Amino acid sequence: MKYILYCRKSTESEDRQVLSLDSQEKELMDIAKNHNLNVIKVFKESRSAKTAGRPIFNEVIEMIQSGKADALLCWKLDRLARNFLDGGLIMDMLQRGVIKEIRTYEATHLPNETAFIMAMQFGMANQYSRDLSTNVKRGNRACLEKGGWPNKAPFGYLNNKGDKTISIDSDRSKYVVKAFELYAIGTYSFKDISGLLFKEGLRTIAGTKVYASHIHRFIDNPFYCGLMKRDGKYYPGNHEPIISKELFERVQQVIHNKNRPRTKTLFFPLRGFLTCENCGCALTASLKKGHQYYYCTNGKGICTEHKSYMRETLLHEIVAGLLQSIHFSEDHINLVYEAAKEKASVNKDYLNSALETLQKRLESLTAKEKRLLDTFLDQQISKEIYDAKVLEIQNDRVSLQGQINDMKSKQPVFTLEPTRDVFIQASRARSEFMDGDDAKKRNIVSSLLWNLSIKNKTAATVSFKSPYDILAKEHKSDDILQL
Ligand SMILES: [Zn+2]
Repeated sequence: MKYILYCRKSTESEDRQVLSLDSQEKELMDIAKNHNLNVIKVFKESRSAKTAGRPIFNEVIEMIQSGKADALLCWKLDRLARNFLDGGLIMDMLQRGVIKEIRTYEATHLPNETAFIMAMQFGMANQYSRDLSTNVKRGNRACLEKGGWPNKAPFGYLNNKGDKTISIDSDRSKYVVKAFELYAIGTYSFKDISGLLFKEGLRTIAGTKVYASHIHRFIDNPFYCGLMKRDGKYYPGNHEPIISKELFERVQQVIHNKNRPRTKTLFFPLRGFLTCENCGCALTASLKKGHQYYYCTNGKGICTEHKSYMRETLLHEIVAGLLQSIHFSEDHINLVYEAAKEKASVNKDYLNSALETLQKRLESLTAKEKRLLDTFLDQQISKEIYDAKVLEIQNDRVSLQGQINDMKSKQPVFTLEPTRDVFIQASRARSEFMDGDDAKKRNIVSSLLWNLSIKNKTAATVSFKSPYDILAKEHKSDDILQL
């Protein structure tokens, strides 16, 4: 097939988000290359397709009608035609096979395609808004490929509203460099750096302190050495780097090394599940004289409780107390389970026999209808009586069928056993937690708990994972069938 590559961008403001002509062409050429499409001519048009009679569009149609080309490659159908006249013409040509294929960025349209679907894509204005988000993403990528940054500038840089470039924020960039240098040494924590730079004058644009978590966030960003990372891909940026690639690498190494001994977290079975109710930060733990102590990381630097250290035994008691709230005695569970099972099976027998009765009744209707027909054919009853009786039978059949469907939908679905297992697991959790080693403890906590926040050395708010959250709430009702 001989393809015409057709790009269009109107000058109207509503078309702002559409990919530039060059980007459209580039993306389409990539498609052509990947699929070995024979592109014989490229047309670029910067004019609204809303009104019929665009010269280039007409030229495209002419080339196809004269047989010089028989396929189209365009960004989206709405690029080809934005009015029904052009759209109709193209659809007609496609359906007659004059156009053998229309290929767009996301689809291939062939002669047998439903006209309705294409009409939707050609004509409807609301299509436009649906396309907008894809186009914004494409637009961002095109921007990145040109070395531009389509977002808010990272800390230490500023966005220039006029030409959309990125420039260095001279008030803050020097501190960013210092942060990288300090962190690369390997002995400074983010909190140390935050404190140090605060003393040396670093403030956010709003005039507040730049906290450890903020530094943590930007120290990972290769933007500062000239690379823009987006969706896992790196793009070289046009902005001026403020640190060397080598410094960035050194910092990466420090981050990597600090992360490595993470396997030790196993020794702190509750780490990662506890937060500080006071400030919302995570609790961490450290080992002192053979004991585990948990405490608030105070990542926001505002916590009044961060000096409150809690021994692991205290926290284990707290967790055990919570697990008690989902505890049921196993005898009780089995009793309720057996009763529920029996109730369900009695119910099931009844439903089955009722269903059988209804089905028999339905069969007898068919027999009745047959007898009626015989009687009528023997001329023993009149046509009027026959018709009336047939109608009666039909009504009966409809209502019976309805009853049968009802009955079928009432058949119990057997969910009792998994439910019982949930109860049993929950009930064993407490003792297994208290008797188990640290690994076992962590295991139990991670299968039951999302999070537990601590205030004044007691449990403040707790969230269980599903379905244990229901058990914790429904503890008093004791009815296995309810679940
Ligand atoms: Zn705290």
